[in-house]
Amino acid sequence: MPVTIAAVETIQLSIPLDTWAPPPMFAGKPRTHVEAIYVKVTCSDGTVGWGESFGSSGGIVVAAFDKWVRQLAVGKDPTDQNLMPGIERLLHGLGRAGPVMHALSGLDIALWDIRGKLEGVSVSKLLGGAKRKRVETYASLLQYAGNVEHVKRNTERALKLGYKHIKLHERTAEAVAASREVAGPSIPIMVDTNCGWTPEQAEKPVAAMKPSNPFWVEEPIWPPEDFESLAKLRKATGVPLAMGENAVSPSDFRKMIAAGATDFVQPSIVKIGGITQLFRIATESEKAGIPCVPHAFFFGPGYLATLHCIACKERDVPLERLFADVAFVPYTKTVPDVNGAVEVPDRPGLGADPEEDLMAKFRV
Ligand SMILES: [Mg+2]
Repeated sequence: MPVTIAAVETIQLSIPLDTWAPPPMFAGKPRTHVEAIYVKVTCSDGTVGWGESFGSSGGIVVAAFDKWVRQLAVGKDPTDQNLMPGIERLLHGLGRAGPVMHALSGLDIALWDIRGKLEGVSVSKLLGGAKRKRVETYASLLQYAGNVEHVKRNTERALKLGYKHIKLHERTAEAVAASREVAGPSIPIMVDTNCGWTPEQAEKPVAAMKPSNPFWVEEPIWPPEDFESLAKLRKATGVPLAMGENAVSPSDFRKMIAAGATDFVQPSIVKIGGITQLFRIATESEKAGIPCVPHAFFFGPGYLATLHCIACKERDVPLERLFADVAFVPYTKTVPDVNGAVEVPDRPGLGADPEEDLMAKFRV
């Protein structure tokens, strides 16, 4: 009997977060919780695959599954390579980005997990084989709104835990200098400004960070798809730039690279279309000489999926790790982040399932 998809379940989580500082603002609200959407796909033979969709889309992703996505997946062959492209094409009129693509991203990841489990091989193996057994993680600090004491204290905390790369979510040269002062000259410090400035405003604050030698400045310009202005800024300041978590398709990455807008691309696996699209973008950008360092501000199946993609590329890049106390972090036993690095699991599929008993406590 061929294996088919029997059920597609969405699990919406809201997990308390302690950032060791006042909560940062996200989408106009204080961020006190990590929002997550896990996608559980059960097959007719009992095989279960796990995926993850962009958590901040919350119930809208759940609705996209309920209204459109589930009925197109149930009853189908989970290993059919034409399944996802077919669904994507059928739903294209609902928008090529946003909640529907976020839902498809989660489904795609779960199908890769299932394929690996059915074949008894890891997702890395399906992607052509891991190039390394261990991937370093970078501590992605939350936003402390320019408070240098919080920046210093949490930079120090990350270094003590063994992280060898730091990312800040700050917009001032003073905050970057404070982190540099604590970290010393050799630790790479990335600075995420979350589209902080208009093209006219950006040059001055980005140039002001230069003495602290930022490894990259991320998304300095609003809107993030203004690749022409980003290219100008990159040239004018000589500061390396990174972007891509708000891009919506592989063609966006081709455009930003062609425009000379960026030094690093950062597709987000839970938004861009899952492993299939992320790996395609990583392969194309690597060929163009631009390293792919994916956005991964999440902990679930999307995190493991990103780990496998990174492990299979020639360029050794670090994996993002949200740096805060989170009440539930999956895989702490199966794929632990120790001393700023994780081992790439060699078990079938993604290599670990999220702990359902713990997860249950944080279901919305
Ligand atoms: Mg970012």
